[in-house]
Amino acid sequence: MQFADVALHLPLDQTFTYAIPQGLRSAIVPGVRVRVSFQNRVVGATCVTTHDRAPSFAVKPLLALVEPKPLFTPTMLRLARWIARRYGAAIGETLDAALPFAVRSGGQGRSILVVEPLADRAALDTAMTELEGKQPKQARALRLLLEAGEPLELRELCARAKTGESPIRTLAKHELVKLVKTAAKPKDMFSEPIPHEPDKTLTTAQTLVLGAVLDAIATGRHREFLLFGVTGSGKTEVYLQALSEVVRRGQQAIVLVPEIALTPQTVARFRARFRRVAVLHSHLTDAERHQQWRAIQRGEADVIIGARSAVFAPTPRLGLVILDEEHESTFKQQNSPRYHARDVARTRCRFERAVLLLGSATPALESYQRALSGRSTVLKLKERVGGGAFPDTIVADLNQVVPGTRVRFLSDRLRALMDHVLARGEQVILFLNRRGFATGAWCNACGVPLKCPHCDIALVFHRRIGRVLCHYCGHEQRLPETCATCQKPFRLSGFGTERVEDEVRNFFPRARVARMDSDTMKARGAHEAVLTAFRERKVDVLVGTQMIAKGLDFPDVTLVGVVSADTTLMIPDYRAAERTFSLLAQVAGRAGRSDKGGIVLVQTRNPDHFAVRLALLHDFETFARYELDARRKDGYPPFGHLARVVIQGPIEADAERAAAQLRDGLGEWCADDTVEILGPAPAPIAKINEQYRFHVIAKSRHRSGITRFVRVVRTWPRPPGQVRVLLDVDPWGML
Ligand code: ADP
Ligand code: ZN
Repeated sequence: MQFADVALHLPLDQTFTYAIPQGLRSAIVPGVRVRVSFQNRVVGATCVTTHDRAPSFAVKPLLALVEPKPLFTPTMLRLARWIARRYGAAIGETLDAALPFAVRSGGQGRSILVVEPLADRAALDTAMTELEGKQPKQARALRLLLEAGEPLELRELCARAKTGESPIRTLAKHELVKLVKTAAKPKDMFSEPIPHEPDKTLTTAQTLVLGAVLDAIATGRHREFLLFGVTGSGKTEVYLQALSEVVRRGQQAIVLVPEIALTPQTVARFRARFRRVAVLHSHLTDAERHQQWRAIQRGEADVIIGARSAVFAPTPRLGLVILDEEHESTFKQQNSPRYHARDVARTRCRFERAVLLLGSATPALESYQRALSGRSTVLKLKERVGGGAFPDTIVADLNQVVPGTRVRFLSDRLRALMDHVLARGEQVILFLNRRGFATGAWCNACGVPLKCPHCDIALVFHRRIGRVLCHYCGHEQRLPETCATCQKPFRLSGFGTERVEDEVRNFFPRARVARMDSDTMKARGAHEAVLTAFRERKVDVLVGTQMIAKGLDFPDVTLVGVVSADTTLMIPDYRAAERTFSLLAQVAGRAGRSDKGGIVLVQTRNPDHFAVRLALLHDFETFARYELDARRKDGYPPFGHLARVVIQGPIEADAERAAAQLRDGLGEWCADDTVEILGPAPAPIAKINEQYRFHVIAKSRHRSGITRFVRVVRTWPRPPGQVRVLLDVDPWGML
């Protein structure tokens, strides 16, 4: 072939044609990585097709072949095309999202830049105080580095501090930190063997479930299953035995779990059964990820465990993909390509004739409806292995607080129960889906909340660092003494996990309390350390956000308190009830995992809401029936599809005008009524990081309507100025 069409890492739908130099004619095949010159720069690209059709314009020659072996199989190229079309992403960025950074850049990922604190701690603290206010990004990066308690990779620190490299390089120039180039020493993936554990003898229910999955695997055809089983019902044991069969047949399997559940314990459970397990997640260094990816590509790993992007693991013979906790929002990618790993996994399994196994105690309504309509097969595990009753549940109505008493975050009822449980030497989990000390700071006199200067969102006070933070852009500052408008002092109100922890310490001074949220869990291993302390009974009360709601199994937890069920219920999103249900059901599953029994107490201002009631009864099916009825009426997913376009820019009027023009253009095109267009309207968070945001939402009963909408938006002329158009198909959240 004389020509190659290549995809560049650019937000462009088209591919570019280059001539293949004589010497490379046989080596350039679809899927190989090449280097080309584009706008006078040498850039990496992926060859998507080769052909002999000479274009009408003069073509440049391709510069080099990065490595002889294709990085993408024809199936993976096809999958990337599917993703690009479905989500309105460019093929180049989609292909790049499927490759680890080190593989993509053609490097061997052998050296990385690591940031180490340099001066002594006291000097750094002084420097940090000086930088605050003047150089907030530098101050933040420095603080996060110290909090991590170990050197961090430069890229990692940038990500955590939400900044580019330059503030950190400035810190290095001022000799506060040192940038060290080190050879990455990748861990050997198959080292430290752990003792082999034999398969468990399955219960009757598990046997039936496994049988159905094994039958499908044996046919070598694509099938989809939804394993709907309460927590502790033995789903993981079924996964393990299904995986055994796949491995025995000489195929590979991918197990996708939410990032947060990808703990050493989880991995150990798989490694105790399988020798060749590869792990792909965000805490690996570039070099480690590179090494794992290569091993998978060579077929040296049988079972691949990973977060969302592991759906692209380059397994040569894929037999099975498992998505555990398939309802979790973290399977949806938040930047382009904004894919959902469940949908990508389904399509990949279809292309590769593999079996897809989704598992959850609270399935996503999309997955559940698929099963109801016969497009997948539901398999149920209704009981916990070894019995284990569900906990008793109590709803504490926060509306019932006696007037005149100070509203406490821990009701009298909850405190009485805690007293009782702690006196018996048992453990308590307190859950609240909101971090920080207070939700916000309000001016006592004019009632105006203290807002982020860059975003249209209230700042949250964090007492540990004595500062207010923006949870969106990372801005932080001191809490001003007085309101800028009326000079009256600020009042803190609302509450987050930090304040709950405080309250527990006040009421139960002898209890050992730990908190787990994204503020306290920044250091590597912190998550593990807290869970181990809790497991070893060195902690009596664990306070946390949804981080503690997942898959943890502690026999001595006999009380779970949900400090407020209202945080998710109040989110302006059609999924609010579903999210509340699944969160409450998961949290409630944490109590009473042993014969000691357990109690779940939920504090709420919406005690009669069906999501609250039914979650506590563990009645997913009734919940699903109600909620699906409502969704069907309104044409929301799974009965319709949504896509959202955010039009944003630093000048409000520009963004607003572009949004209105887009809307008008779409109006003409949508005359056939199959797509409903809503907006433009200011997004619920109207400004983030100095960007004014407007959105337009498309809703259609048919996928084809959304695909058409996506095509129109993608081909829409670029708005003038600095206005950007972001497209999110099947959005998760509309803020
Ligand atoms: P799930 O994944 O549904 O939460 P698990 O597979 O983790 O459930 O099972 C819960 C507990 O029961 C685990 O400790 C597991 O080892 C144990 N278990 C699962 N299946 C069996 C079985 N057939 N016999 C004995 N113990 C089992
Ligand atoms: Zn902000």
